[in-house]
Amino acid sequence: MKEEIIKLINLQEIDTEIAGFNSAIARKQKTITDREQSILEKEEAIAGCQRKDEALQQLQRDTALENEDAAARIKDRQNKMMQVQTSREHQALLKEIEENKKLLKETEEKTLQIMEQLEQLAAETAELENLCKGEKELLKEEMAQVEKEIKKIDSTRKKVTTKHGVLAEELSQAHMKRYNMLLKKRDNLAVVPVIESVCQGCFMTIPPQQFNEVRKGNKLNLCPNCQRMLYFKEKQAPEEVEAVEK
Ligand SMILES: [Zn+2]
Repeated sequence: MKEEIIKLINLQEIDTEIAGFNSAIARKQKTITDREQSILEKEEAIAGCQRKDEALQQLQRDTALENEDAAARIKDRQNKMMQVQTSREHQALLKEIEENKKLLKETEEKTLQIMEQLEQLAAETAELENLCKGEKELLKEEMAQVEKEIKKIDSTRKKVTTKHGVLAEELSQAHMKRYNMLLKKRDNLAVVPVIESVCQGCFMTIPPQQFNEVRKGNKLNLCPNCQRMLYFKEKQAPEEVEAVEK
């Protein structure tokens, strides 16, 4: 039985290692998707700036037309002034000229404001485009780097997975079945040490009699609380157990 327990301990170590590789790969992939997301957000912001720019340019054209119309009306009313006879007609034309002069001034001011806004927007867009370009270059570098790192992790993972397969073949089917079930149900941790009577999976104290059995290691003991497979481990010498495992 002792040998079977050692194999189970080794198997757990391998599964923990594989899980570590998997999360390391996931973390590396996340840096890429984070970067891609950031680029996407900037591209959306740039598109927003472009829509705003188009709307402002349209407003600029409309305002220019309003301005031209007002100027034309002023000229027209000024010409009519020479032909009117009554003071009432004269007054009416003067009023219209005044109104259009006001409009002329308003549209000129509006045009200036639009031009300022367009300038600001162009600067904002240029900055975003610059950031976006930088991030795209960074992404390219990061992708190459991550691909290299993942390849490395993957090749180690393959070797470890092969070791896992060999070990799994050597273990009894009943133990493997229980081990796999525990691995799935107990957060990838099926085999745990008992240190000073405490299960290191759920941190419950093991009854003294069972603790003695775990220490002897003549049979496979399960934690009465979390059902994980238990093995004895000295508190002060973790290196010793590892030495035994290897
Ligand atoms: Zn437990």
